Amino acid sequence: MAVVKRIRLFLIESPIRMARLQGVGNVKGTVKRVLLELTASDGTIGWGEAAPWEVFTGTPEAALAALDIYLRPILLGRPIRHIRETMALLDKALVGHAEAKVAIETALFDMLGKQTGLSVADLLGGRVRDTIPLSFSIADPDFDADLERMSAMVPAGNVIYKVKTGVKPHREDLAHLEAMRARFGDTIDLRLDYNQALQPFGAIKILRDVDQFRPTFIEQPVPRPHLAAMASFAAALDTPIMADESCFDAQDLTEIVRLQAADAISVKLMKCGGLLKAQALMAIADTAGLPGYGGTLWEGGIGLAAGTQLIAAAPGISLGCEFYMPHHVLTEDVLEERIPHRDGQVVVPDGPGLGIVVTEAAIRANSRVLAMRD
Ligand SMILES: [Mg+2]
Repeated sequence: MAVVKRIRLFLIESPIRMARLQGVGNVKGTVKRVLLELTASDGTIGWGEAAPWEVFTGTPEAALAALDIYLRPILLGRPIRHIRETMALLDKALVGHAEAKVAIETALFDMLGKQTGLSVADLLGGRVRDTIPLSFSIADPDFDADLERMSAMVPAGNVIYKVKTGVKPHREDLAHLEAMRARFGDTIDLRLDYNQALQPFGAIKILRDVDQFRPTFIEQPVPRPHLAAMASFAAALDTPIMADESCFDAQDLTEIVRLQAADAISVKLMKCGGLLKAQALMAIADTAGLPGYGGTLWEGGIGLAAGTQLIAAAPGISLGCEFYMPHHVLTEDVLEERIPHRDGQVVVPDGPGLGIVVTEAAIRANSRVLAMRD
């Protein structure tokens, strides 16, 4: 039985082409992440990615140390096939560090897929969809630049837009939402994401104001711990409330369901710690009737390939995804070929494993390698 024989780690930095105003953690210039290459004793290679965000889940430097110092000795020699058992061992050896564990699990599934000729979605139970609706986030400090982008993207079939509200003054948010509805009417599917920007005190008044622009959902209006306030908005508004920062994992979701604190959840591999854990999370969400949305931090192609395979095999993640980074935000990506998107949909790759090709040459050509461990 093939086992893990070699582990290579790359801490990389990629330039981004537009500034992003996200309320917490405004991003400008570059993003950093860790790429992991596993080689099996039979020569099979698998790739994974840890893409933490320091204001949300953690730091890339901590992910690199977790992988290199703490998880490497456990992983070496482990059978590729025993993914669930390996992940349990890693959880036992190191608390937290969800992103580092995602990278390992992704690479193990990628290898198992290549060994068996099956895609990761096949290994997760088989695909239920071939394409995933793509949402683009309106977060440029220059709103007019975003409006121009939309004017090109809407005719090309990209109709879902998530507006990062609560960063600029409320009256500006209202003016921007009005401008979008005025220009595109109901041809666009508008969603709002406050990224925890509001305080519970007075939030409902603001939410009722933006509600007139008919958003499909309002994401995370208040900070992570305020589940009672989230529940009050969910009860008061017809528009669904989505939990993102309030819902990292199955434990969080259990509490959300108990308090009826959200109508939908944002699912991110970097929050919940992997594909198997995302499936466990969605089992609870499905049971409670809460649809999922494929959220991201600043993943590149490897992380998004894992997310794409997950959503392809997760019926409950029905609200689309925001996997647009490699196409619209990163200037380059580390994949030999980007995951295609067509008519406003991400196309789930065919082919074994993650369905992508990564090479060291592509990594070095398209990003700056800050550190490497072998
Ligand atoms: Mg969010």
